Amino acid sequence: MATMDDRLDQWLRDAHAMEQQAEQMLSAQASRIENYPELKVLIERHLTETQSQREKLEACLERRGSSSSGMKDMAGKFTAIMQGMGGVMAGDEVVKGIMASYVFEHMEIASYRILIAAAEAVDDAETAQVCEDICGQEEATASALAKLMPEVTRTFLSRDEDSRETAKR
Ligand code: MG
Ligand code: FE
Repeated sequence: MATMDDRLDQWLRDAHAMEQQAEQMLSAQASRIENYPELKVLIERHLTETQSQREKLEACLERRGSSSSGMKDMAGKFTAIMQGMGGVMAGDEVVKGIMASYVFEHMEIASYRILIAAAEAVDDAETAQVCEDICGQEEATASALAKLMPEVTRTFLSRDEDSRETAKR
């Protein structure tokens, strides 16, 4: 059993860990992409957003009197997603990367929708609004990834056929 407020605090801490994981994932991707400039720009822009999302969650927890210092480090919890997609050593790294990013954004969207409902359930309008704002950024990023996906795939395929080293990343 847990109070609604305790459960909301726990889910905010989970989201905070998720954003820390996102930061690691996005900064690794941004540093590895060499030959897909549009994708690189998108990833770098969302890395900046992700850092501010983490700070906004910290502010919510602080305002709610739930310290972020005791936050369990859940790093690694979501790495299975990345590993499941193949990852860094694959010859089609850029394709596996955009797939994993798209999946990750949708996990974030689901997390924030749940947080919005939970914040509304305890009449924490400010937390609900913060989560709405963040959710909008995740949705915009997911859409932008979906839009880029066909072009990244085509570019990858034609470079790969030429067996150029530029295909991979
Ligand atoms: Mg995020
Ligand atoms: Fe995101």
